[in-house]
Amino acid sequence: DDGRKPLMAGNWKMNNNHLEAIALTQKLAFGLREADYDAVDVVVLPPFTAIRSVQTLVDADRLQLAYGSQDISPHVSGAYTGEISGAMLAKLGCSYAVIGHSERRQYHNEDDALVNAKVKAAFANEITPIMCVGEGLEVRQAGEHVAHTLAQVDGGLEKIPADQARTIVIAYEPVWAIGTGEVATPQDAQEVCAAIRARLAELYDGEVAGSVRILYGGSVKGGNIAGIMKQSDVDGALVGGASLDPGEFVKICRYRD
Ligand code: PEP
Repeated sequence: DDGRKPLMAGNWKMNNNHLEAIALTQKLAFGLREADYDAVDVVVLPPFTAIRSVQTLVDADRLQLAYGSQDISPHVSGAYTGEISGAMLAKLGCSYAVIGHSERRQYHNEDDALVNAKVKAAFANEITPIMCVGEGLEVRQAGEHVAHTLAQVDGGLEKIPADQARTIVIAYEPVWAIGTGEVATPQDAQEVCAAIRARLAELYDGEVAGSVRILYGGSVKGGNIAGIMKQSDVDGALVGGASLDPGEFVKICRYRD
């Protein structure tokens, strides 16, 4: 891990209204101790409608967990019905935004150019992008998973300067492993995460490559996180289903035990 602080991010997807979000965050906060926050950065990613509630709780109880959004508009403001701007998210205290999740790429036709525009919008508002990349099953079966994923990295980072790139979080999520119970092996995760880091060294330099946190995502649970975290280029996890269960998510944060 080369001194990079691991990051465990819980992507709640379209789950939890604002009251349920408070209950889940309280349970999570109750389960986490000072030592956990010393060891890992913990982030929750509620739906937009629950962010204000999570903010209120985090502020009132001075919780050490961070929170963010699952998407961000590429636009600054104006006639973009249904969109949420980076400035709005920053005002709510969001420190992270998921960008280019495979579900958005698949169901909302997000391409690398749009992902790149969203990455820029996040940085413009001092929000750390969690930029998601990864291949589908057919690409994996064709043996083209590394090339496919690196092309997404290139596209998403287009014209992003080094001082911003060094702070980005990249989540490698093989689409065939998301919500399927099918976990990539720790070696599969390491292969692609190492290739992403090597590409960062080519696009920028070794310092940037050594600073970026690269997460694995895809059916991560308390029972499989330890093996994944043993890999030298995996710096944490983006967790979907298991992040809705506070006990399970605490176990993931405490993967060293
Ligand atoms: C995700 O949606 O980012 C994810 C990894 O989901 P799951 O953990 O449910 O596979």
